[in-house]
Amino acid sequence: GTPADLEALQHADVAALLPVPAAESDKYRRGVVGVVAGSARYPGAAVLAVAGALHGGAGAVRYVGQGGDAVLARFPEVLVSGGAPADAGRVQSWVIGPGLDDRVKDARADVLASDVPVLLDADALAGLDPQEVRGRSAPTVLTPHAGEAARLLGVERAEVESGRLDSVRKLAVKYGATVLLKGSTTLVAPPDGGRPVRVNPTGTGWLATAGSGDVLSGLVGSLLAAGLAAVDAASVGAYLHGLAGRSAARGAPVGAGDVAGAVAGAWRGVGRG
Ligand code: AMP
Ligand code: MG
Repeated sequence: GTPADLEALQHADVAALLPVPAAESDKYRRGVVGVVAGSARYPGAAVLAVAGALHGGAGAVRYVGQGGDAVLARFPEVLVSGGAPADAGRVQSWVIGPGLDDRVKDARADVLASDVPVLLDADALAGLDPQEVRGRSAPTVLTPHAGEAARLLGVERAEVESGRLDSVRKLAVKYGATVLLKGSTTLVAPPDGGRPVRVNPTGTGWLATAGSGDVLSGLVGSLLAAGLAAVDAASVGAYLHGLAGRSAARGAPVGAGDVAGAVAGAWRGVGRG
């Protein structure tokens, strides 16, 4: 595309968008993020998505799913329940997808029926019908990697890889959603295909490690709960995630849990200089 098709968030843009609590704020005003992730088979995905959410600026994290014991063992501050998302109590955003089992469909219908922003990742992207998303009253964010994007578009993965800008735009228009296409260059497209696509400048190959996308989903979901617009939440989340990956790694391999642990440092670096 032409240069005007793309824009990169700068440090100062991100600093201005970070949700810093006002003196009179409380946890509900900061926002509550609901995380539906993990399963008996993949409890770690629950822990990583929650870890991202805790560092994303919301005032509280509600977790719904089968990974509650693993989540609480690591993060006692999380509100855990095992039932349906609709019964979990009020949230300002939902994150659904990493490490889910075949219960995903019911839970997905539940969160998509809500009137708050929803982020769909990983297993929640499988077999997603555009009509389930298009009629929503609140924003929806999809965070596929190239393989997931290819399945959503019904094309080969190679086609997404060789035309990432085109692919992210097509997906955003098809679903009427903000789409964050992960990979070596992370792109964020708004639902209206006419506006510029954002390119994240902070990525690093060290992020190519299992569970790293789970951390990103929680982080972006939390920024949605804190009140950021969908494209801002997605691009600020990708920016912080990239910085966290760099500072966690500093030139040596790290795991996704280390990336999550480095988000606070990335935030400090952006926020107050
Ligand atoms: P997932 O594929 O869901 O595990 O997510 C992987 C995460 O790592 C995403 O945030 C990707 O953008 C990031 N990532 C993967 N490969 C690279 C790469 N080569 N350069 C930068 N970021 C990457
Ligand atoms: Mg993933």
